[in-house]
Amino acid sequence: MKTGEDFSWSDARGELDGLPRDRGLNIAYEAVDRHARGSAGDRVAFRFLSKGGEIREMTYRELSEETNRFANALRTLDVAPGETIFLLAGRIPELYVAALGALKARAVVCPLFSAFGPEPIRSRMEIGDARVLVTTTALFRRKVASWRDELPELSHVLLADATTEQASGTRGGTSLRALLDTADPEYTIEPTDPEDPALLHFTSGTTGTPKGALHVHEAVVGHHVTGRSALSLREGDVFWCTADPGWVTGTSYGLVSPLTNGVTSVVDEQEFDSERWYRILEEQGVNVWYTAPTAVRMLMKSGDELPRRFDLSRLRFIASVGEPLNPEAVEWSQRVLDRPIHDNWWQTETGGIMIANVEGMEIRPGSMGRPLPGIEAAIGRRTDGGADLIEDPDVEGELILRKGWPSMFRTYLHEEGRYRSCFSGEWYFTGDLARRDPDGYYWFVGRADDVIKSAGHLIGPFEVESALIEHPAVAEAAVIGKPDPVVGETVKAFVALHPGQEESEDLLLEILGHARSRLGSVAAPKEITFLDDLPKTRSGKTLRRLLKARELGTPEGDTSTLEEPS
Ligand code: ATP
Ligand code: MG
Repeated sequence: MKTGEDFSWSDARGELDGLPRDRGLNIAYEAVDRHARGSAGDRVAFRFLSKGGEIREMTYRELSEETNRFANALRTLDVAPGETIFLLAGRIPELYVAALGALKARAVVCPLFSAFGPEPIRSRMEIGDARVLVTTTALFRRKVASWRDELPELSHVLLADATTEQASGTRGGTSLRALLDTADPEYTIEPTDPEDPALLHFTSGTTGTPKGALHVHEAVVGHHVTGRSALSLREGDVFWCTADPGWVTGTSYGLVSPLTNGVTSVVDEQEFDSERWYRILEEQGVNVWYTAPTAVRMLMKSGDELPRRFDLSRLRFIASVGEPLNPEAVEWSQRVLDRPIHDNWWQTETGGIMIANVEGMEIRPGSMGRPLPGIEAAIGRRTDGGADLIEDPDVEGELILRKGWPSMFRTYLHEEGRYRSCFSGEWYFTGDLARRDPDGYYWFVGRADDVIKSAGHLIGPFEVESALIEHPAVAEAAVIGKPDPVVGETVKAFVALHPGQEESEDLLLEILGHARSRLGSVAAPKEITFLDDLPKTRSGKTLRRLLKARELGTPEGDTSTLEEPS
């Protein structure tokens, strides 16, 4: 693959096949059929680890047939290209088949996180004009049945685990298995314009109400090349992306990119469990592992001895995304897992990885790495119709990206004005603050909304949190700005301790002292509160705005993505 100066997106596109007879570009063709037709047809595409402990493998060829059946089924249900299929299920094979089958049929796919409550599901399906829902009987009963009649446009509810008779009790209900069994396993993808809409993803809701970011088939070019450049995927690898497809990571890199790159993907239906995760790495012989800082911090919490009981020698590359990865976590991984974690940065809106620590490059713990080939990043300020680029190193400003990479979102559904306001001239404004060091590494400072202004200084929560978790008693930390009549805002920290650590006044003073010596008096927290757990989104991001609202007694805002306390 070409890198750096030599790179062009049109060359990258040339690494994919395109639909036969120049009929355009379709994500599912590149992901599945391209391999199914060739020598990789018998390679395992997915290895599903079920809750019950069974393992189900599906080869590229089987996946091609199953997804063909699904695409044919949509035809019999009169679902037209451009209509939206919502997926609400755990990480079961049917979800993956439906997603890829729907892409073949040029429907728009919107995966939802199955742990959402009824209201977040209803509102997203309403915003997304849901025509079809693929789900399970239990999820339908618990989360959809009560409001199903409020969405008359929802014509079909395809139940993954119901017989025809069982499904007939549901309005629009059909047995998915029966539908697939009677459908033709041959399907020819109709011409697909690279600009045809393909995937709808709601953002995590960390800063407010989630937005529906719409992506097109062209995005597959980005998914494909970044899988190799940022995640080091090589044909034949065993890859494990721990994210749920309800978040963009679980789709771009849990579904599309591993398949276009011809790897075997492990999909675990269960939720996080330290011991189980290490066991999966060992037993499945995972070569490349893509996870999130919140999971890494939980692994750290479960101690250094546990991983030593497992053989992780097959593991070649570890990457992480979703939140800043504290330097402490990179060092821990190097020390305990014997290899570093490669942080990378992107957003729902960018559709794919933009900035990364790639294999072989020097890792600077705490930095999210350098822009990938084809991505032009900068630190800038918005001007009328453009951006002022900050060329000096180590100056904080908004992280901006020059428009034009293939997986860039094309709109926020029904919020065109909000979409347009993300751009100024040639630049996309990410809403994140960062700085670039003299060697071109980017350092995350904080979300523009979370940055604390104290006595004329801008303080990024990440730096403060990273210093706090260096303290041996601290497992997790989140900081907010608290209004103060004198200095504008003061830094307040919330801290969760490692198991076995006792909360005490002495410990609190010790942590405050540690922070002050690391950060100086301006950025160090003035106040610390101990919490058992920090509130997080279901995609694992610390909800600082919720901590702030609770601290100040102001309304909590949209909490639809809040994870239930365990
Ligand atoms: P919302 O936009 O609804 O508030 P969100 O921004 O959390 O939610 P996502 O698109 O899932 O929704 O997350 C992208 C954001 O996550 C980035 O803008 C950034 O703030 C944060 N992020 C992702 N990866 C990293 C990383 N490696 N380092 C620091 N921050 C990261
Ligand atoms: Mg965002």
